[in-house]
Amino acid sequence: MDIKKFGVVGAGQMGNGIAQVAAMSGVDVIMNDIKSEFVERGLATITKNLSRSVDKGKMTAEEKDAVLKRIRTSTDLKDMAEADFVVEAATENETLKFQIFRDLDKVCPENIILSTNTSSIPIGRIAAQTKRPDKIIGMHFMNPVPVMKLVEVIRGIATSDETFKTTWELSIKFGKTPASSEDYPGFIANRVLMPMINEAIFCLYQGVGTKEDIDTVMKLGMNHPMGPLALADLIGLDTCLAIMETIYDGFKDSKYRPCPLLRKYVEAGWFGKKTGRGFYEYK
Ligand code: NAD
Repeated sequence: MDIKKFGVVGAGQMGNGIAQVAAMSGVDVIMNDIKSEFVERGLATITKNLSRSVDKGKMTAEEKDAVLKRIRTSTDLKDMAEADFVVEAATENETLKFQIFRDLDKVCPENIILSTNTSSIPIGRIAAQTKRPDKIIGMHFMNPVPVMKLVEVIRGIATSDETFKTTWELSIKFGKTPASSEDYPGFIANRVLMPMINEAIFCLYQGVGTKEDIDTVMKLGMNHPMGPLALADLIGLDTCLAIMETIYDGFKDSKYRPCPLLRKYVEAGWFGKKTGRGFYEYK
């Protein structure tokens, strides 16, 4: 299927990144969020990213304008009726995502694929909210989307081969490298990454090291580009907690229990970089 118009639900750090790479690949984009200030903030981030590319000589000012022209903003989910393919990138909350998918199922033509950028919520459970389980799939981009090459493509138990093929090819069109994962909690990326981050938080909680010690050990000792605590701040501590809860609920194995310190930070509203404070402080 030729995708000419791409819908993005949620204009946060992932949603605006996905909208940017889609528009850069030449498709028209509708980027939706619940409030105009959120879509405007998403568009401002895209503009800043593209301006940086122009400054670095990776793109001309004309190309930047053309990319921005392809992005339309929306605060009404009904606008998704025009899209040939939708990716949902709203907050990592099962109840919220279920409602969005029930609404999208009503609004979008029945032949349209509805994908989700969820970090961990089972695709099969999301699919069960709709009358098109064969057209529901995980399209899991990494953060920051314009930089990271991977898209994890997750097929639910009912996802059709055609849906999988279209999503795989679209990831390549967006300049990404897809990898396939089966539908188990956390898929591959977060099943491996998040317990590592959670364990780093346990090290801080138990006083094994300072945040700087922990991040330095993993950066210099394991050659990770970022330490796990700085990475948790980048991902969002609210998102990290939601992912750990989903993996823990899914396997009922105590090794996946979220660290109490992570919960404490989230309860305080310290979500990391996006709120200015997490394990580190951000100006
Ligand atoms: P974020 O908090 O930056 O953005 C979420 C956005 O969703 C907000 O702008 C919010 O207003 C919007 N939203 C909430 N309810 C909505 C609704 N009903 N309709 C439309 N928009 C709505 O979060 P994020 O980091 O962009 O994460 C979004 C999704 O991407 C989550 O499922 C998350 O697990 C996943 N994800 C995140 C990362 C990461 O590193 N942060 C990486 C991969 C996947």
